[in-house]
Amino acid sequence: MKIHEYQGKEILRKFGVVTPRGIPCFSVDEAVKAAETLGGKIWVVKAQIHAGGRGKGGGVKLAKSLDEVRQHASSILGMQLKTHQTGPEGQKVRRLLVEDGADIRKEYYVAALTDRATQKVAMMASSEGGMDIEEVAHKTPEKIIKVFVDPLVGLTDAQALELAKGIGVPEASMAQAVDTLKNLYTCYMETDASLAEINPLILEGNGNIKALDAKFNFDSNALYRHPEIVEYRDLDEEDADEIEASKFDLAYISLDGNIGCLVNGAGLAMATMDTIKLFGAEPANFLDVGGGATTEKVTEAFKIMLKNPKVKGILVNIFGGIMKCDTIATGIVTAARETHLSVPLVVRMKGTNEDLGKKILAESGLPIIAADTMADAATKIVAAVK
Ligand code: GDP
Ligand code: MG
Repeated sequence: MKIHEYQGKEILRKFGVVTPRGIPCFSVDEAVKAAETLGGKIWVVKAQIHAGGRGKGGGVKLAKSLDEVRQHASSILGMQLKTHQTGPEGQKVRRLLVEDGADIRKEYYVAALTDRATQKVAMMASSEGGMDIEEVAHKTPEKIIKVFVDPLVGLTDAQALELAKGIGVPEASMAQAVDTLKNLYTCYMETDASLAEINPLILEGNGNIKALDAKFNFDSNALYRHPEIVEYRDLDEEDADEIEASKFDLAYISLDGNIGCLVNGAGLAMATMDTIKLFGAEPANFLDVGGGATTEKVTEAFKIMLKNPKVKGILVNIFGGIMKCDTIATGIVTAARETHLSVPLVVRMKGTNEDLGKKILAESGLPIIAADTMADAATKIVAAVK
């Protein structure tokens, strides 16, 4: 689960990481009022969406008067903000964060994330923080330094110091930088985050260290331990189809292709997507209906796939294990009738009661294309959508 920057900063502050003062806003008037409340002479007006790269997309603006706050808030609020993380259509801005303007001497990058290779938490840092960090990672990866944390010991002073020195924090600000890194690590662990990133972490003109941005991902499997984080969920930022699917306990991820896939088991679902690609087409989604694929679940899955105008055909690939093929076949027939299925449907079925399942499909009178092997199924659906 992702959250907004202002929510991320609330969490960081709880763990002792210093951030600028700021107020989240939902309207232009609120933004102007927020700037008045904060006082001072410079403010930053920041689009709040669940994607990075806002600065480059025009979603972060400095204001030197209340009039400018109003101007920027009007232009950012409601805009379709396009960044390298939003996809081509962009994301509509519905919330703003108005903050004290910071006096930036230097921008660093720091992050905590799960490193699969070492099975440890990696703490990363770079002297080259700011809006071009992706390019730094790509072109000069040696400028990003890492330490791997022993979970029983936690991030040690020595490791935090190694990072802070490694990115060139001046001696006078070293203690603050070390504190920030240790607090970030604690925050990452205690919130069950899978990513906690501060970019930029800044050195201010007066030598203070502050988090100017905050990006979190949380492990969904641990959210039951964090009701306070679940409260931050913003459904406007999530894919509508994925929200709908989650209501029916379907593991569904939207993708860009035109072949809808309905599969039981995550492994088989991935293999099915690979096979579609191997045969020259693109899957429109990942969908694992799980072990208990009831008629209701299959129907909902069909509805969700068919709502997507890009879907030109559906491939059902089922292994009947605990769930028998005839049960699934009945579910497919009912779902196809109920949704007035209008795109080609290829079904491959293997396992328990396979023959019975195939008979139900064949006798349904629906134009279902039966397939035997994965290759056969992929060939048939790819031909059907072309
Ligand atoms: P992102 O582009 O989505 O990562 O948004 P950030 O919150 O990181 O902001 C982008 C950039 O805006 C930062 O790297 C800073 O250079 C700049 N920025 C953000 N806040 C301030 C501020 O208070 N003062 C100044 N001068 N620049 C800021
Ligand atoms: Mg940033």
